[in-house]
Amino acid sequence: MKNERQYRREKAPVLQRVRDAEEVVWLNPGKVPFAVCKEDLPVSGEEVDDAEARLQRFAPLIMKLFPETQENLGIIESDFTEIPAMQALLREKYHCSLPGRLLLKRDDQLPVAGSVKARGGIYEVLKHAEDLAVEQGLLQPAENYAKLAEPESRAFFGQYRIQVGSTGNLGISIGMMGAALGFQVTVHMSADARQWKKDLLRSRGVEVLEYASDYSTAVKRGRELSQNDPKSYFVDDENSKTLFLGYAAAAGRLAVQLKERKIPVDESHPLFVYLPCGVGGAPGGITFGLKQVFGDAVHCFFVEPTQAPCMLIGMASGRNHEICVQDLGLTGKTLADGLAVGRPSGFVGGLMKPLLSGEFTVQDAGLYAFMKDLMTSEHIFLEPSACAAFQGCVKSDSREIQEYLRCCHLQDCMDQAVHIAWATGGSLVPEDIRAEYMNGCS
Ligand SMILES: *Cc1c(COP(=O)(O)O)cnc(C)c1O
Repeated sequence: MKNERQYRREKAPVLQRVRDAEEVVWLNPGKVPFAVCKEDLPVSGEEVDDAEARLQRFAPLIMKLFPETQENLGIIESDFTEIPAMQALLREKYHCSLPGRLLLKRDDQLPVAGSVKARGGIYEVLKHAEDLAVEQGLLQPAENYAKLAEPESRAFFGQYRIQVGSTGNLGISIGMMGAALGFQVTVHMSADARQWKKDLLRSRGVEVLEYASDYSTAVKRGRELSQNDPKSYFVDDENSKTLFLGYAAAAGRLAVQLKERKIPVDESHPLFVYLPCGVGGAPGGITFGLKQVFGDAVHCFFVEPTQAPCMLIGMASGRNHEICVQDLGLTGKTLADGLAVGRPSGFVGGLMKPLLSGEFTVQDAGLYAFMKDLMTSEHIFLEPSACAAFQGCVKSDSREIQEYLRCCHLQDCMDQAVHIAWATGGSLVPEDIRAEYMNGCS
């Protein structure tokens, strides 16, 4: 039985509980049926199709530059795995019912960049390369893009610079693809970025500038420096529609994978997706894409650290990117380096208002516990940021989620539900750092 005090805390306004760094479950009051908002969104389904077509055009080049993608014909994609042992462990350890099936989307294994950033970051580099090459007559739209791997093309791209602010993984995706094409690349790394990520980039000839401050400052500096150089292009994680479209392309491919495995998604077979959220681009783009494909049958939730819940405070306060976590007295610091962001993307925050189902927050200790749980049960390693997804799973019996299911008339079909924990990164983490993580140190 809950005592009076616990009960009153649960009823306190969500921002008050967020300020106290409590773990919360928040339902988005702005969500509407997809048919109602579809036409008014500032991004269209056709734009996602266009992004997918562009990735197809680049496939012959990707295959050439990154032989590990040959198996999948140059398409950078991940599989999903059923994780029944993890599901059983979560049910028992966290006393949650979690009905239905639990899948893990393996973006930790995406080729080239080893994280979800391989979707958006690489797409934006390719789009920029195409724009330049077509504009300058190096490439005809109908030509085989493998041509761009030739020395003449590399020399051409070598005149240009790409810059980006990053907590680590975005820098890796932009840096790996940018350098492979011959671009000069500068990554502005926030204080949260791990040393091994900087080392990896430097080994590829990428310039890494380090900042003692947080992510927003690194982005701001990068943006300023880039503006002063006419041959420089800035990948703007806080506002980029291009990044967003690269992430959104994940949805159509997931739909094909689910179909191949005969996993239905419809009104009575709801799909729940739990996405770790930093600035919002990756989870926002994926959510947008999934909504285009599955409409009201998909229910997307973001998960953020209790000390850096930037998207949650932007959406719950209605102030979007006009508010940052420090305004609430939170530190913005978390061991989930990919999620250490204090101010959300205004572009994504606005777009998510009618689409997102809700948010969860999780403490760092919880992320480490999930990381070990997954290793114990499935022998899979994920980086701490990626483990945030499991908070959505263990809160399946919370008062808020039960209320959500009632509102959507889903209580009676949850045995047929599919839950996807979106694993956003991990495969590039070096062995010694994995061991450190597993031993509980940072
Ligand atoms: C970047 C990142 C995220 C979140 O993506 P945003 O676009 O910043 O919201 C989640 N997990 C990992 C591992 C990441 O690197």
